[in-house]
Amino acid sequence: MTSLNNPEIQTAATRATRHAVIIGGGPAGLMAAEVLAADGVQVDVYDAMPSVGRKFLLAGKGGMNLTHSEPYEAFLSRYGTRRAQISPMLDQFGPDALRAWVQGLGIATFVGSSGRVFPTDMKAAPLLRAWLHRLRQAGVQFHMRHRWLGWDQHDALSFETPQGNIAVKADAVVLALGGGSWARLGSDARWLPLLTQRAVPVAPLRPSNCGFDVGWSEYFRDRFAGQHLKSVAILTGAGDIEPPTRKQGEFIITADGVEGSLIYALSAGLRDRIADSSEGTTIRIDLLPDWPLQKVIDEVARPRGARSWSSHLQSRLGLKGVKTGLLRELVPPADFIDPLRLAHAIKALPLTLLAPRPIDEAISSAGGVAFDGLNGQLMLKALPGVFCAGEMLDWEAPTGGYLLTACLASGRAAGHGVLNWLP
Ligand SMILES: Cc1cc2nc3c(=O)[nH]c(=O)nc-3n(C[C@H](O)[C@H](O)[C@H](O)COP(=O)(O)OP(=O)(O)OC[C@H]3O[C@@H](n4cnc5c(N)ncnc54)[C@H](O)[C@@H]3O)c2cc1C
Repeated sequence: MTSLNNPEIQTAATRATRHAVIIGGGPAGLMAAEVLAADGVQVDVYDAMPSVGRKFLLAGKGGMNLTHSEPYEAFLSRYGTRRAQISPMLDQFGPDALRAWVQGLGIATFVGSSGRVFPTDMKAAPLLRAWLHRLRQAGVQFHMRHRWLGWDQHDALSFETPQGNIAVKADAVVLALGGGSWARLGSDARWLPLLTQRAVPVAPLRPSNCGFDVGWSEYFRDRFAGQHLKSVAILTGAGDIEPPTRKQGEFIITADGVEGSLIYALSAGLRDRIADSSEGTTIRIDLLPDWPLQKVIDEVARPRGARSWSSHLQSRLGLKGVKTGLLRELVPPADFIDPLRLAHAIKALPLTLLAPRPIDEAISSAGGVAFDGLNGQLMLKALPGVFCAGEMLDWEAPTGGYLLTACLASGRAAGHGVLNWLP
């Protein structure tokens, strides 16, 4: 009996030769590779850079925040308007599964005081090393310095390599090409026209978890750029049709404006409000979030004798340095000598943000391949056999481990999508 007549032998033969190509060796692509290799698929990972996982490694520089330990419902809410699309993937590979997976690579994790989850040594490199070792042992082949250029006239994948262009055919392809920030690490979004030319719907890429331009005076910039504003709150939305929000944390004064965790946490809404207006958007900063307004009014109004306003504010309220500098920068001189107005400014200092910083500086990007263009398995409707995963999909989330969790979960979902699609 020939193998063609025997369905069992035929299936086994087909399974042995199933071949998938992953383009993009960030966390999403590597996770898709892991799922496929574990099922016996021959996997080739292609990446334009000399090594994989460069953004993942950079994420480890400031302390690799893998995921978050907050209740699952709150966790899902971080994906905002894309919650419905992201949550089925997180149901399969959520924060707990991620921690168990990291543990399986021999890396212990811990929950920080903010609920964020980190590897015990805070680093990304040992994790990536262990992961790549496991992938190579599973048979995954890596092809570095291979830039994907699209498809050739025979519908083969076309790559630019140091040895010249090559064409590659595969039974299935996972695109995990990243978003549009930090292009020097590989995610330069040059994939975007390659997909739109093939009728794939793609939402424009925008900065997410980004800083904003302010237009400081030269005096303020020279003295305070690089300084942290700790223990402050930002109020947004008050006075508009939007409900007011208040968030406490810290941020940094930059030469151009503001950045840092508190700004990033609010950045999606601020960016969208700026896009809707020609004048930027105004936030209010509470410089003393633990002090009630009346107490601030009382303290500011106390007689200051011969003391300057700065030393009065320092002795009565503990305000000094960059906080006083910010008051001087933003409060009109006439208000500065009016205790009631000054107290109100201390509790709700208006700061106008003019524009988001360029996408290349952002931690991540919003926009990307629209979920409308994908089926439930992350396969492109316009290109059967081509799947997408990671930050190149049209979703965004704040920092806090939500980005990596969804990248890994979508890589896993795309891997399973390929398995379901292959014969
Ligand atoms: C400074 C910084 C700190 C961060 N910290 C955290 C954190 O602590 N926690 C967290 O959850 N997230 C963090 N992130 C975000 C997180 O790193 C990204 O969301 C994540 O790496 C995206 O994964 P990805 O696999 O989708 O894409 P990427 O990691 O961007 O990988 C995409 C890959 O595709 C390759 N590629 C692109 N185009 C081509 C092409 N045409 N041909 C071949 N290869 C191509 C690139 O070279 C790259 O290797 C941080 C990001 C930055 C910039």
